[in-house]
Amino acid sequence: MNPQRWRTFSRIVALVWVVNVIGLAALAFAFTRGAFGDLTFSAAKAPAATASATLQLLPTQTATRTPLPTPSPSLTPSPSPLPASPTAVQDTQTPTPTPSLAPTPAPRVIGHSVEGRPLQVFTFGNGPLKRLMVFGIHGGSEWNTVALADELIAHLSQHPELIPPENTLDVLRVVNPDGLARGRGPESRGNAHSVDLNRNWHTANWAEQWPLEGCWTGYPLNGGDGPGSEPEVIWLRRFIVAEKPEAIISYHSAALGILPGGITPYSRSVSLAEALAAVSDYPYPPIKTGCEYTGQFADWSALQGIAAVDLELTDHEQTDFDQNLLLLAAFLAWRK
Ligand SMILES: [Zn+2]
Repeated sequence: MNPQRWRTFSRIVALVWVVNVIGLAALAFAFTRGAFGDLTFSAAKAPAATASATLQLLPTQTATRTPLPTPSPSLTPSPSPLPASPTAVQDTQTPTPTPSLAPTPAPRVIGHSVEGRPLQVFTFGNGPLKRLMVFGIHGGSEWNTVALADELIAHLSQHPELIPPENTLDVLRVVNPDGLARGRGPESRGNAHSVDLNRNWHTANWAEQWPLEGCWTGYPLNGGDGPGSEPEVIWLRRFIVAEKPEAIISYHSAALGILPGGITPYSRSVSLAEALAAVSDYPYPPIKTGCEYTGQFADWSALQGIAAVDLELTDHEQTDFDQNLLLLAAFLAWRK
């Protein structure tokens, strides 16, 4: 290449560079003015991805997306009135929602079992009328009540509107986690001391042993060294005394129906039992087997002025979810 042609070539190259630089500058200006829409604007202005940028980019997802949870007193685990343990709640013991669903509220740990497992309470709503649902007091032998608790916790996490503004609902997922961890056989009914946690309460008829006629006899259990001897019962009693629920359902399985609390059935417990029977197929009055119920949780609750019922699911397998969703509405609507 002779010098003349080399100079011409160099000028052409320089001109191309100038045009490129001007073009890039124009593009950069357009980007910063949003000429290419929210995508480039957000990307340029907010290199760290933000929720709003993501929602702008994915309008089809925003249409079906559950609103992000805003912290509210009812969903924020409040400090327990009881000495909460530093033990972290194990993920395996909380219901696992599908990733696209709203998160389950974090449970309060209100105490621990003999073997140190947490007693977890999930709270929904923030109204003055308090209700408590208790599951799994008979451990693994009534595991389907805990399965029902998990279904209700997951459902209420997705549908907080099911709790009327005047209500607060506490859900104690399992009273007897040690029994639940032992399996589903008859040996899983008592706690780690072989105590029946439904018969370890301060009532006029507490007994270490009771007549076996008509009662569950699948495995030797006792009522404890005395009423309230077991840590699970101590923690639950303290929780109830502190929270003062007006009404309690304690879930069992299976088949006997709805049993009102009170050694002589307490009038408020009877009223609650009738309200629940009106929306369900559970037998009321309950089926009588001749069993003498000593030191019972629901009977102690009645002594505190709380409307309390034992509710027996249909069998040892099903959760009766749909029926218990109706029952939940009646439970929340019941007035003493
Ligand atoms: Zn039971």
